[in-house]
Amino acid sequence: MSTIIGIDLGTTNSVCAIIERGEPRIIINEEGGRTTPSVVGFSKNGERFVGDIAKRQMHINPEGTVHSIKRFMGRPYEDSTDDLRLVGYPLVKAQSGECGVPIGDRVFTPREIAAMVLQKLKRSAEDFLGETITEAVITVPAYFTDRQRQATRDAGTIAGLDVLRIINEPTAAALAYVHDRKQNSRIAVYDFGGGTFDISIVEVGENIAEVRATRGNNALGGADVDQILVEWLRGLFEKEQQIDVSKERVVLQRLRDAAERAKMELSTSHSTDIHLPFLMADHRGPRHLQATLDRNTFEQMIAPVVDQTIRECALALQDAGVHPNDVDEVVMVGGSSRIPMVQQRVEEAFGRPLNKGFNPDEVVAVGAAIQAGILEGDLKSVTLLDVTNLSLGIEVTGGRFAPLIPKNSTLPAQKTQLVSTVVDNQRTVKIHVLQGEEEKARNNVSLGQFELTGIQPGRAGSPRIRVKFGIDASGMVQVTAHDLRSGVSQSVEIDVPTGMSKFDVERLRDEVADQEQADEGDRELRRLRKGIESRLVSIEALLRDHRGELHKSELSGIEQALKRGRMALLKSSDRSNLTDLGAYLERMESHVRSQLS
Ligand code: ADP
Ligand code: MG
Repeated sequence: MSTIIGIDLGTTNSVCAIIERGEPRIIINEEGGRTTPSVVGFSKNGERFVGDIAKRQMHINPEGTVHSIKRFMGRPYEDSTDDLRLVGYPLVKAQSGECGVPIGDRVFTPREIAAMVLQKLKRSAEDFLGETITEAVITVPAYFTDRQRQATRDAGTIAGLDVLRIINEPTAAALAYVHDRKQNSRIAVYDFGGGTFDISIVEVGENIAEVRATRGNNALGGADVDQILVEWLRGLFEKEQQIDVSKERVVLQRLRDAAERAKMELSTSHSTDIHLPFLMADHRGPRHLQATLDRNTFEQMIAPVVDQTIRECALALQDAGVHPNDVDEVVMVGGSSRIPMVQQRVEEAFGRPLNKGFNPDEVVAVGAAIQAGILEGDLKSVTLLDVTNLSLGIEVTGGRFAPLIPKNSTLPAQKTQLVSTVVDNQRTVKIHVLQGEEEKARNNVSLGQFELTGIQPGRAGSPRIRVKFGIDASGMVQVTAHDLRSGVSQSVEIDVPTGMSKFDVERLRDEVADQEQADEGDRELRRLRKGIESRLVSIEALLRDHRGELHKSELSGIEQALKRGRMALLKSSDRSNLTDLGAYLERMESHVRSQLS
């Protein structure tokens, strides 16, 4: 059986881990990094880079650099307008109704971009293990809706990964804790990343993790901290130089880079210098930006963001019915949890020192790998009692939302609802399924209109259709229905509209697989050519040094072979042709050597 990999597919950074002889291990990527920026860059001539290289070229190519794509996964274009401003690349409405990134003559959906990141992680794992990887466990924020989970699973499929399970990020962190400590405690998982914030209260035991409550904000993260600094820097520059840079993409990207660097530096130093030479030029010549920021000022600026996370903590404790004093340990997760002010405020909120035993960048991927190890049977099973973080319900008369499975219900969860017709001989019934907490149906996230068709004709109200709503262990919604009339249970067809059809997802998967094979072919071709090239060079050297020692007839044969080799290198891209040539030249070289000795 091949290895199942665990992946933390982050807004900002992604991490891949596996279980090796019972212990988690982080996969190192091609660049030697333990984390891979979730960034994809497209060059003008169609080349594609993923990870560090893409992140590094962001400020020179902001329009061709796609980051934070997770914010758009499985969300309709219209709902994403707030986030559109945050990214420096253009977004259009894709055919699937989501945001799409236009690159050349194509529009990439968030699933496809995420798939490119997953593909890179998959390849690193394959290089490390020397085997083909086909299965994965992927983590998502706890409050991801069914649609967003579906989009994540699709991204896996496109990358050639069968996503066996989707688990919530805080649950993954709790799993890592269980694996490490094997003791009964009540923990809080505080995860402050680049684009999202999550807080969960989890009860853990030797082989159980029960999530009691999760709260969060999927539009709050380190990027918001950076944005505050960008606005501050922009204000300084505009005041000093009287230049409006609000539409200057490259300038804004440089400000964003500088802001993030300054922020990180302030996690260890008390003051930082920001120096941006040649930020812009006008008729007076080049304009520079120079500023100093101390930790105190920084903390005042970002206090509103930190406050928001602390408020969410209080709400999560309330949801779980737990007093802060009853929390035994706080596990800090996510890059932004490294900000000293964040640590200090969380310590105050829970009234205890923080657990710093886990690497905040890696603990989620470690948890995903542990779940993968459990699925493989390599690790002892841990019962995960996870909860749904959004109420699941249907639209009823008056456009109201009727919850069927309330939030914080333990997964998997199920609820049955009897549905009937309102007019005589009605053959179809539409059920609008939503997730959220709002009274008005339209203020919640729509999962789609489920159409029940093939209902036996009859008087209004006489059909009795049993509709079963379920949320599985991956937090994904399943709806099934049966027509119960006259005691006969009949299956009813359900039409579920999603962002992208199964067919489209599979078409993209095949495309990626073909591309991968082509890339593999390219690599092989390059290897062959390189082999021939060095063989030619060494035969030429032999000829140069020992021309006089070789027989005339021998010489012309060798020279002909060299010529043939040079021609083939120029013209042929036929693999079997080049393989044959390589073998022929190898024989030729050893023959020449045998003549000389
Ligand atoms: P995500 O889960 O969104 O992928 P991460 O957990 O990788 O994100 O966190 C990334 C965020 O953490 C970025 O906003 C980054 O600027 C921030 N970050 C990383 N290191 C530090 C640090 N030392 N101090 C402050 N912020 C940091
Ligand atoms: Mg994260």
